[in-house]
Amino acid sequence: MASLLQDLRGLSAERPNISRDLRSHLRAFLESELRSAVGPLTVTKSQMNNVLQCEGKYASPQAFSWTSATAQGTIVHKAAELFFGGLRQQDAPSMFEAAVRRVRVSRLDGTLGDFVDSLDEEEMQTMQALAINSIENLLDSFGDIRDSWNPAPEFATATSIGTSKRVVFSGKIDLRLGSVQANTASTLLIDFKTGKPSTSDFDDLRFYALIETLRTGLPPFRLANVYLKNATHSVEDYDEEILWGTAERAIDGALRMSEVSNGEREASLTPGPYCYYCPSSSTCPVALS
Ligand code: SF4
Repeated sequence: MASLLQDLRGLSAERPNISRDLRSHLRAFLESELRSAVGPLTVTKSQMNNVLQCEGKYASPQAFSWTSATAQGTIVHKAAELFFGGLRQQDAPSMFEAAVRRVRVSRLDGTLGDFVDSLDEEEMQTMQALAINSIENLLDSFGDIRDSWNPAPEFATATSIGTSKRVVFSGKIDLRLGSVQANTASTLLIDFKTGKPSTSDFDDLRFYALIETLRTGLPPFRLANVYLKNATHSVEDYDEEILWGTAERAIDGALRMSEVSNGEREASLTPGPYCYYCPSSSTCPVALS
């Protein structure tokens, strides 16, 4: 039986050929539509999601504190990074320990060590069990990875629109497989999820696909969300219409971000289920009414 990874990679003969003009047409469209955007403006998937949900949420001062769920997710992602970076001979508990050691010394994740130390024994056991379950599913699904498939974990990608890096689209892909080849879409982008599926999951991967197309001239042939908690996944194959729709969404988000962050107008308030996670939820007049 084919592994999940083999299913996701599919057959190279089935990968789509891409027009040489795709990148230049996309770039011309974005540069024209974003000519009024005031830079420097860096657009990430999180900011894009925030501003398109509610501009007030995007404009809110962002506060961050660790929870068991975010700690678990960060540790599992670190384990995936180590695994695809070459630490492949380990079992799940060992990968968990290695990931915790690594995040403790990370400049970005350094405070996670303090949070882990603050957990009581029961909380730690629960978090550890959930993380190890996800890592086991990762190893089961991707244990046949080969270096010849060019696994690139935590793949940082970015492209600028307009001159002088006025608008920059930026992202970090959990895993990019494959390599750019002439005229054929040959890369696969994968996001690992430790929480529940969300309607925005493909929006994130599509944004990365747009950046990769603008950067390399070739889109990924497939996008995949892999939900490690239950070892399930969902895929979306390359579709040029979706790529153009993603460009339109990115334009909408970037213009909103530019207008709100440069004070051209007040942020509009659009309440929704995401108010629960908004830093302004205790003071926002719309959420309180
Ligand atoms: S609480 Fe809701 S409506 Fe208010 S700013 Fe936040 S997301 Fe927007």
